[in-house]
Amino acid sequence: MHTRTPEFSLIAKYFKRDQEKRRDVTCGIGDDTAVLLPAEDSALAVTTDTMVQGVHFDEHLSAHALGHKLLAVNLSDLAAMGAEPAWLSLALTMPSVDETWLADFSQGFFKLADYYHSSLVGGDVTRGPLTLTLTAQGQIPKGKALYRDGAKPGDRVYVSGTLGDAAAALAMQQGRIARSEAYETLAHALFYPEPRVALGQALRVIASSAIDISDGLVSDLQHILFASGVGARIELNDLPASEALMSAVPEASTRLELQTGGGEDYELCFTVPESRRGSLETVIRQLGIPIHCIGVIESEPGLRTMRAGEPYSLSATGFSHFGADE
Ligand code: ADP
Ligand code: MG
Repeated sequence: MHTRTPEFSLIAKYFKRDQEKRRDVTCGIGDDTAVLLPAEDSALAVTTDTMVQGVHFDEHLSAHALGHKLLAVNLSDLAAMGAEPAWLSLALTMPSVDETWLADFSQGFFKLADYYHSSLVGGDVTRGPLTLTLTAQGQIPKGKALYRDGAKPGDRVYVSGTLGDAAAALAMQQGRIARSEAYETLAHALFYPEPRVALGQALRVIASSAIDISDGLVSDLQHILFASGVGARIELNDLPASEALMSAVPEASTRLELQTGGGEDYELCFTVPESRRGSLETVIRQLGIPIHCIGVIESEPGLRTMRAGEPYSLSATGFSHFGADE
């Protein structure tokens, strides 16, 4: 039997749903652990991300957006592995009980969770500085996971969506670039990133490697290159930019820094063998997700950044937290 501690009534009010939507949740919130029924022919993909107030977010981010983003960053990791989201577990540390905050946070969280038919099956509530930790589990048909280490010379390098919007919004908040009319549009990318869940699953049988872009294109692409033991040449003029970014940051070198080093894009970067480019185009047309080819994998290690075909060095302008060898 449950004792109705104040914590448990909060959990019941904000995190326990009336009806369990997934049939593979034998036991959700309320017992000592959740009990889940993974599909027989699937592998489990498990990821955890923590967001700490003052480190990963500040007062600009509403509780509603925080609920969305905490889940979105975890779903983005699942997407990069080709996993289908299923079960979520939330560890919440709060300085005090603020019911308005909890209501907004849980609304933002469940709106996205419901969209991907994923269930919150447990968690923990503690008192302390505002810190949120989410564990997300997803399923991948056995043998179909997308890893970082499969890129081969000759494979094309792609990114989904556009790059740099979130980084531009953050730079505007911090006064590093001038705030413009486009701020609202750019801030939406920072506050409400959309994980590329459908794309990740479609890429299972197409891509040779994949990663989600959380730290910035250069840094994350280098993880693929290092894991795969290869190099790449990318054409910076081919990096996709939104209209909002083009108008807010007309100066190309600053824009490129935001697109390559800013991070928080939560787009997918992936490689595709020449022989599967046709399949890729078919799938992309069906999904209606914009993707762009930005370069090619080469056998010589290292990342070579080009502009209009000429070598171009990305300068360290304060956004760079990547190594010195590019
Ligand atoms: P225990 O003391 O056995 O760990 P708790 O009192 O912490 O249990 O939690 C009771 C139930 O509520 C458990 O099923 C737990 O998974 C769930 N729970 C606790 N916190 C959260 C949360 N933030 N979100 C969802 N479920 C939670
Ligand atoms: Mg217990």
